[in-house]
Amino acid sequence: MKASKSKRYFWAVTVTCLPESREALSYWLFSLGALGCEEVENRIIAYFEDQDEHALHQAVIRGVHRIRESGLPVDPQSIDLHRFPEENWMENWKRYFRPVRIGDVLCIRPPWHRAASPPMLDIMIEPKQAFGTGTHATTQLVLQAMVERRDRLPEQALDVGTGSGILAIAHAKLRPGSRVVGIDIDPVAVENARENARLNGVAAACDFRVGSIEAADERTYRLIYANLEKNIISRLMEALLQRLQPAGEILFSGILARERAELEKLLVQHGLRVTRVRQQDDWLLMETEKPHV
Ligand code: SAH
Repeated sequence: MKASKSKRYFWAVTVTCLPESREALSYWLFSLGALGCEEVENRIIAYFEDQDEHALHQAVIRGVHRIRESGLPVDPQSIDLHRFPEENWMENWKRYFRPVRIGDVLCIRPPWHRAASPPMLDIMIEPKQAFGTGTHATTQLVLQAMVERRDRLPEQALDVGTGSGILAIAHAKLRPGSRVVGIDIDPVAVENARENARLNGVAAACDFRVGSIEAADERTYRLIYANLEKNIISRLMEALLQRLQPAGEILFSGILARERAELEKLLVQHGLRVTRVRQQDDWLLMETEKPHV
């Protein structure tokens, strides 16, 4: 289908998949030119500019087959394409970005939603390509853990895989006077994180850098946020530990419930004590502590 002159159209491509395939699938959809991707229950919805339906469908099918070849489950039969006119764009897109509340302490919202009233802290996140709009369980689990610690959040923290900057911004807001270093290998994420920090008035408290752990200062932290995923966590483990103070904590998120035993073993092998495990949907947060030596 061709773009008509009078009206602009978009495509919404929906694919049903299991949690372990979501990251690979959204990566693929972005590489096909998706304007944005959102997870809704067990589906990923990606939005595209108007284009030839057959070509788009075939490209998505190819992606799904590649993901299956790498051993991840996703069903090519589950792909659905829906074309809609521009006037329904915001409605389609915004539907997925509702304010998220963490207890009665934090409200995460897109800029077009009304601010929460004080004393609730208000955090605005501009939904772009970076992960971390606040709608995902892995982010919410970390935010819950932060809110519970709000009276003892340290002055300095490190956020590894900062995405939209949401955790660093929440830390800066919950602990006035603190300074958070947020790192991400994706330059687009870092740009979005900086924009979000400015939007929330905490740009001076947040230092966002492109890169992995080597991009953080040569110093140690009392608290490290690591909302990553199992394989990345295991790859970065040594480097994370080098940045952790004795009695310091790392909050690991992005872990699937069925990976629990494997992750726990890895953490214990590296001398960390698991102090608490939280679960939301299929996802786990593991709170860990490095014992005093
Ligand atoms: N902290 C946000 C985003 C988590 S998504 C939240 O909690 O919602 C994970 C992020 O980690 C992605 O933006 C990805 O680009 C980044 N990432 C992946 N591997 C990384 C690495 N080795 N070092 C730093 N960041 C990494």
